[in-house]
Amino acid sequence: MSNDFNVNSDGYYGEFGGAYIPEILYANVENLKNEYLKILESLDFQAEYHALLRDYVGRPSPLYYAGRLSEKYGCRIYLKREDLNHTGAHKINNTIGQILLAQRMGKTRIIAETGAGQHGVATATVCALMNMECIVYMGKTDVARQLLNVRKMEMLGARVVPVTSGNMTLKDATNEAIRDWCCNPANTHYIIGSTVGPHPYPDMVARLQSVISKEIKWQIKEKEGRDYPDFLVACVGGGSNAAGTVYEYLNDMRVKIVLAEAGGKGVDSGESAATIQLGTVGIIHGARTLLMQTPDGQITEPYSISAGLDYPGIGPMHANLARTGRSEVIAINDDEAMAAAFELTRTEGIIPALESAHALGIFPRKNFNPDEVIVVCLSGRGDKDMETYVNYKL
Ligand SMILES: *Cc1c(COP(=O)(O)O)cnc(C)c1O
Repeated sequence: MSNDFNVNSDGYYGEFGGAYIPEILYANVENLKNEYLKILESLDFQAEYHALLRDYVGRPSPLYYAGRLSEKYGCRIYLKREDLNHTGAHKINNTIGQILLAQRMGKTRIIAETGAGQHGVATATVCALMNMECIVYMGKTDVARQLLNVRKMEMLGARVVPVTSGNMTLKDATNEAIRDWCCNPANTHYIIGSTVGPHPYPDMVARLQSVISKEIKWQIKEKEGRDYPDFLVACVGGGSNAAGTVYEYLNDMRVKIVLAEAGGKGVDSGESAATIQLGTVGIIHGARTLLMQTPDGQITEPYSISAGLDYPGIGPMHANLARTGRSEVIAINDDEAMAAAFELTRTEGIIPALESAHALGIFPRKNFNPDEVIVVCLSGRGDKDMETYVNYKL
């Protein structure tokens, strides 16, 4: 078994990944594959990307020692504060990078899919900033439960298209975005919001999010005197905040990786989005990965209280990390995530996004030693979830 958990030159992480796409998109994806590394590594891209991350997004995001939470769980817990980014989550690290890439590739029209609306807002934001046309596909169910984000996207000048197929959530929005891209391959760049889709998207998004672990490295050195934690913890929907959190430590075996996927009402309840535990190998949205499907290959509708984790697939990097044992994956149910959200709010005065609350939900499940250092990616803030929090009976 390979000890390198990064993508290989064919776009695979172990047996997962690749680019399974309709013929009409072949030229686009091939072009992207040939250009992305050149562009991302160019000096002018790097200069503009990092200037915007600093002055527009507000990076570096703080690494905060959560004293009261640490005391409660008997270990040293740090929160990587992606919730403090402009637009309220880690998503903007990726959209800033991809809009700069789209400009350099001569594209004039941007499309995106969104679940919780955070990626849609982050995309609409950079399109306003760069004066580009923006169309966001969003499941009708999500439009209803994340209305504030819909209003933000519209105010930013984006057109939000409600999608009524399937159970009208993220998977269905992604299908529609791919359909649009097939009709408009020449002028349109598709900004995928997570480490999913055909190669090179998972690797490109992971690289753009890797700023998270690059910062953790020097920040933890300042605080703990060593440049690595014992554990990294993140939630996984498609896997982008988790990929960014672990990127610099992928091949550093001193660092253990613990990921929280959405258990929904319970892994065996039939209402779950615990893709890594319930999934089998198949192809979804252009990648070979683990996905929730029936024995004859129909995709199973996922369920989670959290719109951002409500996806039947998982990025190929994470399928490989889980299947090789590099990561430990725990399914956190709706009620556990809710309890963790209220706990963080009452102990630290930070209202987390429901997705991030799944990552915090691992603490009652695991035992840590007093001297162990745990960094949790707090992927987003809870503003968008206030309705759900208010209406929830603990
Ligand atoms: C979108 C989102 C997620 C899930 O997406 P990943 O690609 O798995 O990171 C997690 N947290 C927040 C706050 C989000 O907006």
